[in-house]
Amino acid sequence: MSNNKQVFLCAINNILSGTCAEDCRFCTQSVRYHADIERYNYKNIDQIVQEAKVAKAHGALGYCLVTAGKGLDDKKVDFVARAARAIKKEIEGLNLIACNGTANKEQLTYLKEHGLDSYNHNLETSERYYTDICKTHAWSERYETCENVKSVGLALCSGGIFGMGETTEDRDALLNSIASLSPESTPLNFYHPNPALPIKTRNIELNEAINIIKKARILLGDDKLLMVAGGRELLFSGQENLMFEAGANAMVIGNYLTTEGIDASSDKKMLDTLGYKVAISCD
Ligand code: SF4
Repeated sequence: MSNNKQVFLCAINNILSGTCAEDCRFCTQSVRYHADIERYNYKNIDQIVQEAKVAKAHGALGYCLVTAGKGLDDKKVDFVARAARAIKKEIEGLNLIACNGTANKEQLTYLKEHGLDSYNHNLETSERYYTDICKTHAWSERYETCENVKSVGLALCSGGIFGMGETTEDRDALLNSIASLSPESTPLNFYHPNPALPIKTRNIELNEAINIIKKARILLGDDKLLMVAGGRELLFSGQENLMFEAGANAMVIGNYLTTEGIDASSDKKMLDTLGYKVAISCD
């Protein structure tokens, strides 16, 4: 994979939104915190395909099908597989990612058989700090899902969120845990506070975010995708060059799960101004 002045774009589609019973203190999709977001069950598959076409037209190489909830069940696995099949049938050249929470090997194998290339499951934060931000499930389950992804031969996408009140040691521990899984791609998110959520503020500054990207690049190696995802617009707006110079080579375009991002044409202009090309292939 050549990273020289190329940036890989990834888009997210929230195909089942805001209906999660878990208590992750950073997440607007938990029903416990009554955040003012759009909540819906299974999105129409034709609509998902149309939205994937738009993302592809904007230069997305990665396309991620996200469902709220702790993990996969039979109904959800079938829905994601049908969405994946429909997208693959109509659109060529998209790296299809699923992000559906904890998953066992059987479920992941089923998704792979139906066209998924990659599975995203973030470790979110250090094992130590995770007990402070989520009481309804364990960090070890997250790690286990990542191991399951690798064992069935899907590409692993795993990262986390920074700025949720964790210490510098927690950040280092998270990066080391991610690196121990050797994921193909790693999204780095920077916490976006929402008044409804228990975590009220973001404890991360620009220079710290830059250091995290630098450390991640060293730990993960040069041949992996290192993506700046949620919170990019809060920390790097107008100075995106800093994240690429620190080692990022990928970013999320369009909206995030429940927050608005930057429109794709502005991002393309930004990349052009900085002298980066949009990558057209993962090879
Ligand atoms: S399990 Fe996932 S969707 Fe549910 S509250 Fe936690 S992060 Fe949000």
